[in-house]
Amino acid sequence: MIDKTKKYLVWQYTCIIFAISALLFVGCDSIYHYVITHNLEENLADYLNEEYREALDYNLNFHEEIHSSAADATMIQTFSYWILDSKIIHADQPEGTIGKELLDKVLRLDIADRELTRFKLKNQKEIWKFAALATSFTLKGQQGKIVVLMNMTPIEKFTHTYKKIGFIVLFVICLLSYFIALSLANRAIAPIVKMYHRQKDFVSNASHELKTPLGVLMAYSELIETKYGSNAEIDVIKDEVKNMSGLINDLLYLSKLDSLKTNVKRPPLDILSCLKETIKKFNALANDRKFPITLKTDKQNLTVSLSLGDLERILNVLIENALKYTPKDKHISLEADTDDKKVYIRVIDEGIGIEQKDIAHIFEKFYRADESHNRNISGYGLGLSIAKEIIEQNRGSISVISHPGKGSVFTVEFPAAK
Ligand code: ADP
Repeated sequence: MIDKTKKYLVWQYTCIIFAISALLFVGCDSIYHYVITHNLEENLADYLNEEYREALDYNLNFHEEIHSSAADATMIQTFSYWILDSKIIHADQPEGTIGKELLDKVLRLDIADRELTRFKLKNQKEIWKFAALATSFTLKGQQGKIVVLMNMTPIEKFTHTYKKIGFIVLFVICLLSYFIALSLANRAIAPIVKMYHRQKDFVSNASHELKTPLGVLMAYSELIETKYGSNAEIDVIKDEVKNMSGLINDLLYLSKLDSLKTNVKRPPLDILSCLKETIKKFNALANDRKFPITLKTDKQNLTVSLSLGDLERILNVLIENALKYTPKDKHISLEADTDDKKVYIRVIDEGIGIEQKDIAHIFEKFYRADESHNRNISGYGLGLSIAKEIIEQNRGSISVISHPGKGSVFTVEFPAAK
């Protein structure tokens, strides 16, 4: 139980830490994009406006003008081109081969007014990345276009490196988050573990203390019985002592269950012989029933990794319940089957059945369905919770299908042993 809670907490904390880190990463990325890229794009828009204003003045004093300046991919630089009649009439462009290629590209560029466009140019193994903005203008009555460019290559490179580092940090956080979660879960669960152990110690000590007086009561009852012969009062005392002893044994067993090693790999056990033996034992005890308990299977051999003691305990609980909650003239049977991956054991009875509302609770400690139905049937509601814990510790599961008044089918599944 503690282990399950701890695993659940570790899983939850890991997810929370990872989700917070991922959100931070996405948040930082958005802020970065807004601050850097958005600002540069605004600068580009300002630059386009300046060029546009210059073009209006230029109208009066027209002459072609093309400037080339040194440029390299690592610098954030801006360039401008005025195009009239598919010809560049004014330019501020980079020199060298990139300048020529850019000129060519700008002339072919299909760009709408004020709409940011991005493009790449490959030049001498270097990839240049540009952001472009354009606006229409008129010069001497002719319609033209102004295109401004910004070399975004260094920013894109920086973004790429930044994202790579971000992903590495996220991956490290993901690994670390498990250990942080483990330490947080250990802290959170510490008081519960302490209380749980105290409670277990109490149950175990109280049960041991109660065993002696019950033993004395039983011994004296038997002594009185031998001295004065059996009578109804002594029988009641003996029955109650037996019930109490059963309860104490169950409580002791439950308190030990958690500390038993769960990951031990058991040798394969042939369950069929154990099923036959257990049925034989119960048929001998319940010889007042109209029909004996039967076993239906067409398999010769069914093996699971389970200890004989554990299988006997599970069968005892399920068969004892079937006997307790099934009238003496109704059938009880067991089935054993496999689909190669799993081995199934079913305990089927035609007894009183279980209401739908109780089915979800019958595996809880001390839960007894409908006390009015059960009043005359002894029990403390511990059998199924013990069976469930043993089954789950052995990587199995238990389920039930039941119809009130018609009977119940308890199905136990275990991984088949190879
Ligand atoms: P107990 O039988 O000692 O009360 P269990 O934990 O074995 O405790 O069972 C819990 C409850 O589940 C029982 O009180 C009973 O109401 C219901 N139950 C279990 N097995 C059967 C069954 N075969 N038929 C009908 N009810 C059952």
